[in-house]
Amino acid sequence: MKAILDEGFQISPEALNSLSVIDNPEELIARIINRIKGMGEKPLVITKELIEQEVPHRERRKPVEEIRPLPVSITGRKKFKPIAEEIDSEIEVLRDPTGKLHGRGRVEDFIDYFRDRYNRLYRLFLQRGDLNVVPIADLPNYKNRETVRIIAMVTSKRQTRTGKLMLEVEDPQSSIRAIVPMLNERLAEKADRIMLDQVLCIEGFMNGSLLVATDIMWLNTPTHHTPKKADVPVCAVLISDTHVGNQTFLEDAFNRFISWIRGKIGSEKQREIAGQTKYLLIAGDIVDGIGIYPGQEKELAIKDIYEQYSASAGFLEQIPEYVEIIIIPGNHDATRQALPQPAIPEKYAKPLHQISNVKMLGNPSQVKLHGVNFLLSHGRSLDDVAATIPRINMNKSAEVMKELLIGRHLAPQFGNVVQIAPEEQDWLVIEEIPDVFHAGHVHISGQRRYRNITLVNSGTWQSQTDYQRRRGIIPTPGKAHIVNLQTHQSLIMNFFEGCE
Ligand code: FE
Ligand code: ZN
Repeated sequence: MKAILDEGFQISPEALNSLSVIDNPEELIARIINRIKGMGEKPLVITKELIEQEVPHRERRKPVEEIRPLPVSITGRKKFKPIAEEIDSEIEVLRDPTGKLHGRGRVEDFIDYFRDRYNRLYRLFLQRGDLNVVPIADLPNYKNRETVRIIAMVTSKRQTRTGKLMLEVEDPQSSIRAIVPMLNERLAEKADRIMLDQVLCIEGFMNGSLLVATDIMWLNTPTHHTPKKADVPVCAVLISDTHVGNQTFLEDAFNRFISWIRGKIGSEKQREIAGQTKYLLIAGDIVDGIGIYPGQEKELAIKDIYEQYSASAGFLEQIPEYVEIIIIPGNHDATRQALPQPAIPEKYAKPLHQISNVKMLGNPSQVKLHGVNFLLSHGRSLDDVAATIPRINMNKSAEVMKELLIGRHLAPQFGNVVQIAPEEQDWLVIEEIPDVFHAGHVHISGQRRYRNITLVNSGTWQSQTDYQRRRGIIPTPGKAHIVNLQTHQSLIMNFFEGCE
């Protein structure tokens, strides 16, 4: 923003608003200023139109189309001939923690765990090739305001009395205090986004024993990721947080959803999409569970965990067999709570395991479907992200997910709401860039594209609970997000609104 004022221009409120949803506003502002300078008659105010002319079409955030399925009368309806039935499924499980976890928990195990996190992210940073980083232990050799870069994990973060940010950061050998002066809006905004236990690249200079940061860089995803596309016209349907067993589970809406997948309701176009549905991905909280929060029992319609899973299987077994269903657990499911979570075991969810087209994976998991790379994570850490970063809120759930991609870690902060088990390897580092990142947990549906990656938070099938009412959370239930694997076009189908 400063650049605009420095150049003597003003900016309209609408323009400011549209800038706030753009990934790299600094670069865009520079481009706009350059263009204005080349104009014969220079505008005084930067308007929304000026910005839109400069944003390449694919970067513009257009809302995902949302449609409601209409019941179709039996007469005059064409026979449902699903193309997905003719196409063989192609599932490659790239990463699934199930069966590979050790459940350690000694102090030394935590040290090993964080070292592994650091090393994995450090290696990925080095692959960028242009950073010239030094170990923290070498920092005393850099004097006279020489610029230097380190890669470090944030171990503490606090505001100083003068409004600067004081960090304590470390690498495997050493640690140092780093101060982030709020020199400009860009650095202040970045300082706000730093999360504890994140691995970052800090650029700065030494002042006595203190590193003064001049820039903060997250590993981020490449600017030019090219998503893989399926060579056949199939779709994946993304849902989560069905919470079967709770009184607020929206059975009617979920039944409508199943009727749609079976080709029984919808317009011709909607039934065509149903027929292309080859995959159903469920990102956790399949059931409401038992003993998850105080007073839960009063809100349960089914008070037995086995019966909750068998009720959930009762719905899912109605989905045609040619649709592959992939289920990962959430924090309400009957598997270990600490991340990474192994798949919900047969012991609790036998009826689900018995459905031939159901695949139970852990949280997180990464799979390729017809070559398209999906990262599935329940998303409990989104609570931490939203609580840490001031300008971010849960009503834009895909924005919150974006922060995890930028930090390339699914649960940066340790020991707040998210429990992490100290496995030898950090399963939560986002090593391979997904084409689609799917999470749930926040019960607010959201979708956007970030650097060519489709981010989907698939909402919930539960209406507002007492807990949410007390906290002012308004869920968006009954929506299914559909991604066409051949075109990466997506849409949302709303099975709740207007149907009740
Ligand atoms: Fe949930
Ligand atoms: Zn959850």
